[in-house]
Amino acid sequence: MFTLSREVVFSGRGVHTGRETRVRLLPSTSGQIYLRPDDSPGAPVLLSECEIIAWGGTVLKAAGFSLRTVEHLLASLMGLQIFSLEIVWEGEEVPILDGSARPFVEQLRRARKSLVRENKVLRITTPLEIKENNAWVKAEPADNWEINYEIDFNHPLIGRQKLMLEINEETFIKEIAPARTFGFLWDVESLRKKGMAYGSSLENTVVLDEKEIVNPPLRFPDEFVRHKILDFIGDLALLGGRLKGRFSAYRAGHQLHQQLVRFVRENKNYWIFEENFA
Ligand SMILES: [Zn+2]
Repeated sequence: MFTLSREVVFSGRGVHTGRETRVRLLPSTSGQIYLRPDDSPGAPVLLSECEIIAWGGTVLKAAGFSLRTVEHLLASLMGLQIFSLEIVWEGEEVPILDGSARPFVEQLRRARKSLVRENKVLRITTPLEIKENNAWVKAEPADNWEINYEIDFNHPLIGRQKLMLEINEETFIKEIAPARTFGFLWDVESLRKKGMAYGSSLENTVVLDEKEIVNPPLRFPDEFVRHKILDFIGDLALLGGRLKGRFSAYRAGHQLHQQLVRFVRENKNYWIFEENFA
C-alpha cells in the first residue's frame, strides 16, 4: 500500500456550502485512514467506522463532526491505493476543485510513497443485490475489482450510457478520474432551497439545460456514466481498503451505493479478508 512522503493540501470552494475550505492529508505509518477536524481535541476516527449519509454527495459523520462531499477525494485515495494517512480539515466540506478527481490525483501521485504493511483485501464471496424502485446495486465474486455501471436519464444528451471496467491504477487515472460532476440548470433553485449547490459553477460542474450542454466540451462522450463510476468508487472506499469483486449499479446514486456499503459492513458472511504485503 501507499502513504504520503509529505503533507498534501487541497483548498478551494465547497460545492454545497459555497465557502472556502481546506483539507490537509498527513503521512502516517498506521496502515489506516483516520480523520479529524483541525480544531478537534478528540482522537481521530477510522474512516471505516464513520457513519455515511447521502446528501447531495457523501457526508461522513462521527461523534462531534461531519465532513461533506468526500467522494472524489476518497475515490482518488482508493484509485491510487493510498490507505495510510490522516485527513485533517478546516470548514465542513472537501473542496470541489474542477468537479472531477483529476486535481486530487495529480497532487497525490507526486507525493505518494510506498509503505510495506499488511494489506487487507475485501473479497466478495457471495452475491448480493439491493433494489429500490427501478434501480439496483449488486456485488458478485470476481478475481479482480470490476465496476459495471448503467445510467438512463431522460435527457437527449445523456440517455442510456453503460460502461464496464476493471478498476486498477491505470484505468482509474485515465478513464475515471477526469470525469466531472454534472447537473441540470432547472435543479439549481430547488437544490439551493435545501442548502446545496451554493458553490456550483460552470468551472466545477458540467451544466445541462433542456437541450444542450451550457459549458462544453465534454472530456469524454460518456463523461456522465464515468462520473457515476467515480462516485461509486468514492462510496466503496468506505469499506476500508482494496476490493475483489464485480460491483454493478443500474440507475443508482449515493444512496444506493451507501446501502450496499452498509450491507457489506453489517453482513460478514458475504465476504472475507485476504491479506498480502503488496
Ligand atoms: Zn461526484
